[in-house]
Amino acid sequence: MTQEITNFAELELSDALQQALTDLNFHTPSPIQQQTIPWLLQGRDIIGLAQTGTGKTAAFGLPILQRLSSTIQGPQALILAPTRELAIQVAAHLEAMSVHQKNTRITVLCGGQDYRPQLQKLREGAQIVVGTPGRILDHIERGTLNLTQLRTFVLDEADEMLRMGFIEDVETILAKLPEERQIALFSATMPSRIRQIGTRYLKDPVTVEIRMETATVKTIEQRFLFASQPQKPDALLRVLAVEECQGVIVFVRTKSSTEEVATLLQQQGHRAMAIHGDITQNLRERVIAQFKQGVIDVLVATDVAARGLDVERVTHVINYDMAHDCETYVHRIGRTGRAGRSGVTILFVTPRESRMLTTIERHTRQRIEKTTVPTDYMIQVARQQRFMANITSRLEHENLPSYRRIIEDYLKTNEVSPIDVAATLALLCNQDKPWEQKISSPAAPARAKEARV
Ligand code: ADP
Ligand code: MG
Repeated sequence: MTQEITNFAELELSDALQQALTDLNFHTPSPIQQQTIPWLLQGRDIIGLAQTGTGKTAAFGLPILQRLSSTIQGPQALILAPTRELAIQVAAHLEAMSVHQKNTRITVLCGGQDYRPQLQKLREGAQIVVGTPGRILDHIERGTLNLTQLRTFVLDEADEMLRMGFIEDVETILAKLPEERQIALFSATMPSRIRQIGTRYLKDPVTVEIRMETATVKTIEQRFLFASQPQKPDALLRVLAVEECQGVIVFVRTKSSTEEVATLLQQQGHRAMAIHGDITQNLRERVIAQFKQGVIDVLVATDVAARGLDVERVTHVINYDMAHDCETYVHRIGRTGRAGRSGVTILFVTPRESRMLTTIERHTRQRIEKTTVPTDYMIQVARQQRFMANITSRLEHENLPSYRRIIEDYLKTNEVSPIDVAATLALLCNQDKPWEQKISSPAAPARAKEARV
């Protein structure tokens, strides 16, 4: 018997959920959704192996929402996520899918937050609880989170939980679940500890594995260029000057380099900000919100700080420093090409790191195309093309006629050619700067460092 579906309409989802999917522009289920939702709707346990960006939230979220009962008191579904940010993201996604469903109560319980509002929410009757392991366990042990009515438990990003040292808390929680329950375990990889958990706590689970080829990675164009450490600042500025980008994430290895690179970009007129593990959660959330809105275009981040980040306008991911393993690389590039869009990723490789490049290509079974650092000439050409495209796209603009009248008046009263007027206006657009612009030589610190080596 096949359990696969190719269309959301084939699922017996309520009208309210179908409507929400239409609102969200979700037309076809992703592979993990196709292969897990029918089983989850039947109440089966699931082990889902899939990379980030494959649509796991809706895979477990839709069946949970569909199966919610209005007569049961107390939480019916519990979802564990490795970080506060991811928990909030999951809850927001569930909220979005349940907008047309009346009285769905979703509560987030994470560490680092006040207990009082959490307790208040729980008293008001949370149906779906999303949280991080430590705080969830805390609530269970205090008796403030009652699991007797729980029907579904989701372990999202299980391998991350293991990596972050939360697996013991997770197991303690698993041991406290009621006997009759459904468990969905999602993970990008299957370390033995996670496999053990699967055999120990899941009952006759259906295992679904989404291979890289079918994951969203194929919508991402992967390139690399050789740049030594001191050449990187210049290479970054040049790449940003030629690429047609909206949101850009630049991955660097250390906290201090996030600041260095962000400062360099700001000095060159880019709207860039740094995020890393040491900045406060509030500031981080604010920066990410600004990035989403387009107030900031370039986010310079460490891997930890950008974990799970889901921002649709990310067109480019720049691996300024090499990822230390393949999983990290795959996670990084998955920050672009979100929601079926296409994305570009550029990997900076120092001569010593060529072996890692081969390893990544082998692991992802995808070719990474070689490019070179854009020359001044390439930058000029790209700028000129963008400038011309800007003109073309405005020729039909509704506000153009009123400007045309002014120019006509001007030409009537002045002995100037229309070309000179146009050129003058172009100069004005470019803040009177010469058209030929050189990428000014990047910050000294990086060079000084090499001199010392
Ligand atoms: P994962 O948890 O696997 O990393 P998410 O659930 O966060 O993935 O989904 C990744 C992105 O894809 C989100 O922006 C989500 O809104 C979008 N998405 C999920 N399912 C679909 C779908 N069926 N059609 C279009 N976009 C989808
Ligand atoms: Mg997820």
